[in-house]
Amino acid sequence: MEKKAIHTQEIFVTEEEKTLVWENVQNSFENFFGSEVYSSWLKNISLLKEYHDYLVLGVPTRFFRDWIVSRYLDKILSHLKTFKKSINRVEFKITEGHQINSNDALKAGDFNTVTEIKDSILNYNKLNLNLNFDNFVAGSSNEIALTSSKKVCEQISRYNPLYIYGGVGLGKTHLLNAIGLELEKKTNVMFISAERFMYHFIKSIKKNDMVNFKDFFRKSSVFIIDDIQFIRGKEGLQEEFFHTFNSLIDKSSQIIISADRAPMKLDRVQERIKSRLAGGLVVDIDMPDLDLKIKIIKKRLEDIQNEFKESSNISEEVINFIATESKTNIRELIGVLNRVITFSRIHKKILTINDCKNILKDLFNQAKIITVDKIQNAAANFFNISLAEMLSQRRSRPLARPRQIAMYLSKKMTTRSLPEIGRRFSNRDHTTVIHAVKTITRLSEKDDEMKKNIDQLRSLLLEE
Ligand code: ADP
Ligand code: MG
Repeated sequence: MEKKAIHTQEIFVTEEEKTLVWENVQNSFENFFGSEVYSSWLKNISLLKEYHDYLVLGVPTRFFRDWIVSRYLDKILSHLKTFKKSINRVEFKITEGHQINSNDALKAGDFNTVTEIKDSILNYNKLNLNLNFDNFVAGSSNEIALTSSKKVCEQISRYNPLYIYGGVGLGKTHLLNAIGLELEKKTNVMFISAERFMYHFIKSIKKNDMVNFKDFFRKSSVFIIDDIQFIRGKEGLQEEFFHTFNSLIDKSSQIIISADRAPMKLDRVQERIKSRLAGGLVVDIDMPDLDLKIKIIKKRLEDIQNEFKESSNISEEVINFIATESKTNIRELIGVLNRVITFSRIHKKILTINDCKNILKDLFNQAKIITVDKIQNAAANFFNISLAEMLSQRRSRPLARPRQIAMYLSKKMTTRSLPEIGRRFSNRDHTTVIHAVKTITRLSEKDDEMKKNIDQLRSLLLEE
């Protein structure tokens, strides 16, 4: 019976219709979701079956499935559609026990100075050898963060915790990683993202193994946690983090934390945690100025030259052009530069500004299609609320603000009229939208943090 069922389904997709190269899909997942979410979650998805309008995907455990479905399914689906239009649904199958990635198992042994937890936590918390102090370029926007990071390496627990904050793509993870590499030489270092911390926390609860969890995280001498804003609104996790934090401080372990905003601006985080976070040294990283951008480009070109023993064909003029035009963050800047370098290599020519304009046309000039839908999703994600909460009738501030910001951006970034925007927010009246636009305009004029948040969201939306 079952065989027959499968057979009929397979009629829907012929061999030539099988278009997905899973490796490509995975690569683009990584670009789209970022390497943290990718390596924690999406990397573990395999393609089991491809049909005309849906896919059967394999995930290692039920927990993985639930997590991925609740947080990433919508995005995964719309992303898959860019590879194959006809897909309108995915199904997950649990593959636990069937797949062991021998590659990962092998790698784990290389990092034995980092504390180990049995269930392959190392696969996700490896320090990246390429993100070190040597290749971190100093500029006025990151100088204080950089010197503070170096000081922490010289003298543990002098500034405790060290808290580094700033927008996306400005070098927080790079700095944290550099600290980890440095301190790993002399002591045991735990480096983890808050999202990954959450994953282990929930997994331990499910396995009734909290003792091991507590023990594991509390025994490191240096505890580095990336993107702590992830704990916003998650009470159980905050509770656990608070106790981990305290016991680490008690035994004079060094704690280093990064976040996208200042400690006191972390809404929906317990006061006692905020004051602990702010209780050491708090430093920020700002947007790079032109000078830093130029320095970063030159450093990359120099590194490439040394590595590949080839001279670069990138003129001073082109460097200036890239640095001036790339306005979002350092991650983007490097992406743009890589593109230009690749082009000049392939075409073996010295590029002019006009060549660059052509190569980067889509990045710098193209009017990106931004929809109310995309804005709602991006804002919900950014403020760590669900889309349902964004669209709900509830008016508590933690929901109302993100909603107002989404309305404001919808007005500014799309051509939709006020009534149309209102309708897309669960049939609200256009006067509600007007009120939102006014409120956010006013707030962003007097509140730096608000302005920063809006700029960041805007650049996330423009980024792709
Ligand atoms: P964040 O964690 O703040 O989002 P990352 O640390 O991931 O940002 O940085 C994004 C990219 O930019 C990385 O490739 C990183 O190596 C690079 N980068 C950021 N700041 C610098 C810097 N000052 N010098 C060199 N590379 C940098
Ligand atoms: Mg980061």
